[in-house]
Amino acid sequence: MERVRILVFNAALSALDYRVPPGMTVVPGSVVLAPLGPRQIVGIVWDEGRLAAGDVPEAKLRPLIEVLPVPPLRPALRRLIEWTADYYCASLASVARMALSSSAALKGGGTMTEYRLTGAEPARLTPQRAAAMDALAGEQATIRELAEIAGVSDGVLRGMVGAGLLEPVTVDIDRPYPRARPDFSTPDLNEGQRAAADAFVAATRSGGFAPFLLDGVTGSGKTECYFEAMAAAITAGQQVLVLLPEIALTENFLRRFEHRFGVPPVLWHSSLKSTERRRAWRAIASGQAQVIVGARSALFLPYLNLGLIVVDEAHETSFKQDEGVRYNARDVAVIRARFEKIPVILASATPALESMHLADTGVYRRIALPDRFGGAQLPEISILDLREEAPERGRWLAPRLVAEMRERLARGEQSLLFLNRRGYAPLTLCRHCGYRFQCPNCTAWLVEHRLSRRLACHHCGHEAPVPDACPECGTGDCLVACGPGVERIADEVAELLPGARVAVVTSDTLNSPEKVAEFVAAAEEKLIDVIVGTQLVTKGYHFPELTLVGVVDADLGLEGGDLRAAERTYQQVAQVAGRAGRGEKPGEVLIQTRHPEAAVIAALASGNRDAFYAAETEGRRDAGAPPFGRWAAIIVSSEDETEARDCARAIGGSRPDHPDVAILGPAPAPLSLLRGRYRYRLLINARRSAELQSIIREWLGRFTFPASLRVSVDIDPYSFV
Ligand code: ADP
Ligand code: ZN
Repeated sequence: MERVRILVFNAALSALDYRVPPGMTVVPGSVVLAPLGPRQIVGIVWDEGRLAAGDVPEAKLRPLIEVLPVPPLRPALRRLIEWTADYYCASLASVARMALSSSAALKGGGTMTEYRLTGAEPARLTPQRAAAMDALAGEQATIRELAEIAGVSDGVLRGMVGAGLLEPVTVDIDRPYPRARPDFSTPDLNEGQRAAADAFVAATRSGGFAPFLLDGVTGSGKTECYFEAMAAAITAGQQVLVLLPEIALTENFLRRFEHRFGVPPVLWHSSLKSTERRRAWRAIASGQAQVIVGARSALFLPYLNLGLIVVDEAHETSFKQDEGVRYNARDVAVIRARFEKIPVILASATPALESMHLADTGVYRRIALPDRFGGAQLPEISILDLREEAPERGRWLAPRLVAEMRERLARGEQSLLFLNRRGYAPLTLCRHCGYRFQCPNCTAWLVEHRLSRRLACHHCGHEAPVPDACPECGTGDCLVACGPGVERIADEVAELLPGARVAVVTSDTLNSPEKVAEFVAAAEEKLIDVIVGTQLVTKGYHFPELTLVGVVDADLGLEGGDLRAAERTYQQVAQVAGRAGRGEKPGEVLIQTRHPEAAVIAALASGNRDAFYAAETEGRRDAGAPPFGRWAAIIVSSEDETEARDCARAIGGSRPDHPDVAILGPAPAPLSLLRGRYRYRLLINARRSAELQSIIREWLGRFTFPASLRVSVDIDPYSFV
């Protein structure tokens, strides 16, 4: 009898033994359906001897039900799943689930019915049908998806099918994506780009693990360089994974990719329709999908034949996932490349300090592009000391910045103002009694959004209309907005520069690929004079007429004082500065600050990046912080504050005594209430030599926690709230 160990999708169980019934063949990696109690559960046949499971006698083993019609997961992916679970103290099941992230795809191929407009144009239509017809132009999807697009019920659309307005189309789930053409439009690379591209192409052709740091200034043409390596992988019949930090950036990437390779790449992100997801997953697993562009979740997909990984804007903190499996996609991408034995390119103009250190110590191969493409110059950066050049009362933009903007407007050039704060004002209070609007579920102020006339919590999504009177003292007309958000800056621009066309760019306004495309088109056609945006506009965009960047408040990011505050400020300001002067006209950057003496501000002004990184690196060394020492956080949360506190204390009370490990806390987390849960935190600082994960696992393994309590471990945390 054949006995196999299955990684089952149940976090509490992880591995169970089953019997392979006669006539069934499985190999390590096979995706199977197994009985669990009265239910059926998906699992993966695992390599012998690598997972622990209970000792079930042969006679009691239950037979597997079936092998699902998808290719077995390859060994490199199985090792990646084990590594990720082990390193991030997560369950194997929760990591494996990220690989099999389309349950529909596991059902196999086949056909499905989609619908599209027939083109009939009846003379009379109900307003609802007319609106639906407008919304559905050019769309083809299932009834449910179309209903969502058109914002009507399924019933309305079924009625339209009956009336001959919509028609069914049978589509093959596994219909292939169009083939990318490696030679569709090849660029003339300059000397530096050629050298970079040659190094990537050689590594891609020869295969083998090869981590690169592509360290090129903004506008140096990093994308063109790694496109050459992608072309080499495509020519060799391999797949390429490109990770981008935000969906908002995919639009821009898509256009450039299509221009270079003649077809769009395959997209993977959380807002794909389920049928698109199923098709993409199956094409990835079968090897048909050639280039996959996605957010971090694309990292765990079951590529058949991966030849290259690119992580663009690799310094971005959004590669760190802060819920569920708390992994850093940049780091895991390098690990995946190691298991797959392929090159990985981390591209950035402002690499993470950890990546710089790995390049400095020779672990990563650094490829530098020190100049902008086509002779464009890096912008002139200067400091605007707000203590000396104060804005007028109740305003946020200093006169010199406004004067520069006015000049740009007169010349028909564009300006960009950067402030990393959504909404109108970060705090609203009552002038009469001092009442402050706070989120009922979180330790956070409600942010006023004037565009949508609401107060919103940026942590949990709680929203309320702005009231006419103070809810505490009942006084009418007494609410004051404190501090600026981008909407308030946009209002100020409108007052100071009448006639200027202002666009507010945040995740609130650019929340779909269509909106992003609209914004890019408007900016390129010079229908926008001033862009006011959050970190969303700091990267990826290339507007040749943009010649002035104003950083509204460079001190904002330094306030929290966490480990990476200075590094992050450096990256954000350098990135947004990089939007200026990308065309023929030179760019200028004004940084508003009250702390011109701060090392990070001085480094930005002098352009002395290496000195800044060197000083930061020494600071990290002294503090035993990454990359020299390691941090981990344990967050204990519950809806019951006493339960959370008592449990955190119990964990703290049994802390391990280890010479290489220092444990701080428990203390209430800075965000002590989040989404209705009270949170306590312990911070662990360990030497690199310490077996941090085993220490934590053994420590927490002694407890049995009630279901109402959540205890999560965050290895290499980015968020300290
Ligand atoms: P980065 O990502 O390094 O900031 P990009 O890849 O966005 O820079 O390149 C900046 C601009 O220069 C883009 O518009 C790009 O198309 C153009 N560019 C870069 N290299 C070349 C090249 N070799 N030939 C033509 N255009 C190029
Ligand atoms: Zn909230």
